Amino acid sequence: MNRLSVTERLALNKYELDDGHPHIIVNNEVCEAECKIRACLFVCPANVYSQQNGKIVADWAGCLECGTCTVACPPEALHWEYPRGGFGILYRYG
Ligand code: SF4
Ligand code: SF4
Repeated sequence: MNRLSVTERLALNKYELDDGHPHIIVNNEVCEAECKIRACLFVCPANVYSQQNGKIVADWAGCLECGTCTVACPPEALHWEYPRGGFGILYRYG
């Protein structure tokens, strides 16, 4: 029996997008003032965060809802909440 790679397992998942209601909002003023490490760019297993023109951008649609970024960031830099009921990731195991 073949074991699936992490990437293959993640590809099985399904996302119900809540258009217009991001569950992650980055406060770039706090990032620029307080954060030199930019841990979000390294700790997120789904690569949700990127740096564009010096600003941190969260592509929240691909979030795995693991909560890692909420530990890595100062709380005032990140507004994070679970997606509304019925939205977000649906894990499927193959
Ligand atoms: S989102 Fe968090 S980890 Fe990323 S730059 Fe801002 S404060 Fe730092
Ligand atoms: S909760 Fe997990 S998957 Fe979602 S943005 Fe944070 S680190 Fe990435």
